[in-house]
Amino acid sequence: MDLALSPDQVEIQRAVREACARFGDQYWREVDERLAYPDEFVRAMTEQGWLGILIPEQYGGGGLGMTEAAIVLEEINRSGGNGTACHAQMYTMGTVLRHGSEDQKRRYLPAIASGELRLQAFGVTEPDAGSDTTKISTLAVRRGDAYVVNGQKVFTSRVENSDLMLLLARTSPVPERVEDRTQGLSVFLVDLRDARGHFEYQRMDIMFNHHTYQCFFNDLEVPAENLVGEEGRGFRYIIDGWNAERILIASEAIGDGHWFVERAARYSSDRELFGRKVGSNQGVQFPIAQAHAQVEAASLVRYQAAALFDADQPCGAQANMAKLLASQASWAAANACITAHGGYGFAREYDVERKFRETKLFEIAPVSNNLVLAYLGQRVLGMPRSY
Ligand SMILES: Cc1cc2nc3c(=O)[nH]c(=O)nc-3n(C[C@H](O)[C@H](O)[C@H](O)COP(=O)(O)OP(=O)(O)OC[C@H]3O[C@@H](n4cnc5c(N)ncnc54)[C@H](O)[C@@H]3O)c2cc1C
Repeated sequence: MDLALSPDQVEIQRAVREACARFGDQYWREVDERLAYPDEFVRAMTEQGWLGILIPEQYGGGGLGMTEAAIVLEEINRSGGNGTACHAQMYTMGTVLRHGSEDQKRRYLPAIASGELRLQAFGVTEPDAGSDTTKISTLAVRRGDAYVVNGQKVFTSRVENSDLMLLLARTSPVPERVEDRTQGLSVFLVDLRDARGHFEYQRMDIMFNHHTYQCFFNDLEVPAENLVGEEGRGFRYIIDGWNAERILIASEAIGDGHWFVERAARYSSDRELFGRKVGSNQGVQFPIAQAHAQVEAASLVRYQAAALFDADQPCGAQANMAKLLASQASWAAANACITAHGGYGFAREYDVERKFRETKLFEIAPVSNNLVLAYLGQRVLGMPRSY
């Protein structure tokens, strides 16, 4: 079993680290204060091809795997940046790649790979159907050559920074039998540029600089040719994308975890009180060391999940465990870091409070850790279902 990165992967890590170094603490702090989208950073990542690396070469992408994508996102967050601004451009297209028609792949994937088209909005969550995805009520009704969509989504991220949205909508009523409840949902590629007058959105005011929106669909016509795969099988298609998403989100959390550990170790090794370095006190040092061990352990599970994914092997258990462990590790590191900084942990100029707000997300979205534990208990360990 080879646990080391290959020379090519090390080179990717080095190149992304170098690219991110242009966008330092000052850049991210200022973007955070303005609640702005990090356009310049996302442009740089796009131009260097990092956001298209999961797209096969035949469609103009980098043709690389999940391990390489994981390295890219880890490095973005490890540099102090925030990959959530652009991560969905990397993986949302996976649904089209796996389940779209050849025509859809040819039409969209090369333009997504080049950044000419941005597919980084993903509309699943609704006000009355959060974790319970099969209960969504946004409706798409077939009329002639189009589907007419009505409904509401919440927490749909990057709508203003996307040309296309991957939308999950109901195309037939909620089945009565529980075992059929994953049926009747369909996935559409919605061109937001054509949606004016029938699609409205409002930015949600949340605790960190993330561009997420409430969206309202009012008789929006989506051409039938934009249905991805078969009508009614959309929930399965969305699930197929979850493992990739969990591995990549875990990678961002791992990047954050390393950032917190590095900052905490550095600051507490410099600051002197009571005639010795703050970091020599076990009450400060041990939580940092503990978090470091947690981050490293989560990283190994994440690479195992990525390797299985790349080998087309089942990886649901590993992808879910990676997301769980990485989000817990980054949160432990965040707490150790803020403790090590004392009052300065709250001062914006140290960036710790910003990363602290950002990293909490990984315990909740794209799936909350309780649901991950339920998956592990029920699907992996075969224990009784809670829902
Ligand atoms: C910043 C941000 C960006 C997001 N971006 C997107 C996006 O782009 N697209 C999108 O579709 N969604 C997005 N989401 C939504 C995200 O996926 C949901 O918030 C998440 O799935 C949880 O759903 P919910 O918020 O409705 O919580 P709920 O489902 O209401 O859950 C509330 C709490 O109850 C717990 N819970 C619920 N059911 C159970 C159970 N059976 N057992 C144990 N515990 C349970 C959950 O763990 C959670 O802690 C985003 C969310 C945030 C905060």
